Amino acid sequence: MDLVVQKFGGTSVGNLERIERAAKRVISAVEKGKQVVVVSSAMAGETDGLIELAKRITQFPNEREMDMLLATGEQKAIALFAMTLRKLGYPAVSLCGWQVPIVTDDVHTKARIRKIGVQRLKNLLKEGYIPVVAGFQGVTEDWEITTLGRGGSDTTAVALAAALGADCEIYTDVTGVFTADPRIVPNARKIPYISYEEMLELASLGAKVMQIRSVEFAAKYGVRIHVRSTFVEEEGTWIVPEEEIMEKVAVRGITVDTKESRITVVRVPDRPGIAAKIFKALGEAHIVVDMIVQNVSHEGFTDMSFTVNRNDAPKAEEIVRKVAQDIGAKEVVRDDRVAKVSIVGLGMRSSYGTAAKMFEVLSKNNINIMAISTSEIKISCLIEEKYAELAVRALHEAFVEDGEEIKVETE
Ligand code: ADP
Ligand code: ASP
Ligand code: MG
Repeated sequence: MDLVVQKFGGTSVGNLERIERAAKRVISAVEKGKQVVVVSSAMAGETDGLIELAKRITQFPNEREMDMLLATGEQKAIALFAMTLRKLGYPAVSLCGWQVPIVTDDVHTKARIRKIGVQRLKNLLKEGYIPVVAGFQGVTEDWEITTLGRGGSDTTAVALAAALGADCEIYTDVTGVFTADPRIVPNARKIPYISYEEMLELASLGAKVMQIRSVEFAAKYGVRIHVRSTFVEEEGTWIVPEEEIMEKVAVRGITVDTKESRITVVRVPDRPGIAAKIFKALGEAHIVVDMIVQNVSHEGFTDMSFTVNRNDAPKAEEIVRKVAQDIGAKEVVRDDRVAKVSIVGLGMRSSYGTAAKMFEVLSKNNINIMAISTSEIKISCLIEEKYAELAVRALHEAFVEDGEEIKVETE
């Protein structure tokens, strides 16, 4: 029998009426003869609310206790989901991560899944129950409850699909993956097919729709994902291996990330080993550095800038201040009002003129570029945060709405 994992995000289970609509999606698959394993997120706003409560006690809550707290959000949602299915006449059993079990490492608040036991799920299915599994949570070998990082229910769903050899449907509040966040760009278009690699870049560069790790998992185990709407009945977006993508466009999508900060070390003596000193100190503190720019030196001095996740910025600033003193730099400046806009597409590998066009669009809109980084299939520019939405709209217009001016040489 066809087996499918259906994951419902926070807004899809945001109140009892919505849970009922989600349950009817499940029932409709069951009625078509499918076996369904449900994965549910916490109700919309629940996880944020729990984090806020903890932060009212302390700025740095103990991470084990944080996981105990956050896991309650999904536990509440799955119980309500299972009750709803039962009311509608379909026997269902809710399961927390540890009851499956979904075994993770012990890195609290960002644990990684190590293994999944499928026997209990298989038994439940055989007995005619619909298992409703809590997303976002797991358990360590030592029976400690863990969570998988924000948006982690996507990863639960993909991992379960991989373990069960099932299809994977991600139900959310948009009808698929779009060429840009439809909340920012009203003209954004739904992408029918997208490769794992492109989706991974979009997710890493700010598109919230899928958690990065879930896409990594899907690519590793070849899970085909269908991202679609809980509320609108239509075909969504398929995330599939690159071989299945017929049309390799230069720019598949545009993203913006407003969760980074820029730190500049001013008037650094231009000597070998200085960059190593700065970035070694950051690495030792487990801080991930993203874009790095070193200016041309003048009279033996230079400025060096880099970006880090905004949550890490205060710590990074403190660390770099210490190093700056040691190496005789003039000062350290932190800027939180930056945004990274990116264009992503497989066709970029074999096209020309894409970077030039991106810079031109930004310059036409009087948006200054503070840093640039590229990979084979993406180009990112750091700009002032106040221009973030303007930049995304302008780039969308140039690369998506005005068609494919950029030539792609197909192999
Ligand atoms: P869920 O609660 O269902 O997991 P999320 O809020 O995590 O949903 O992700 C869906 C949201 O992602 C959408 O509401 C949309 O605003 C945002 N988003 C950002 N970029 C994109 C994109 N390129 N395509 C679709 N949605 C996007
Ligand atoms: N509830 C968790 C969060 O808000 C996990 C998820 O929704 O995927 O991040
Ligand atoms: Mg999500």
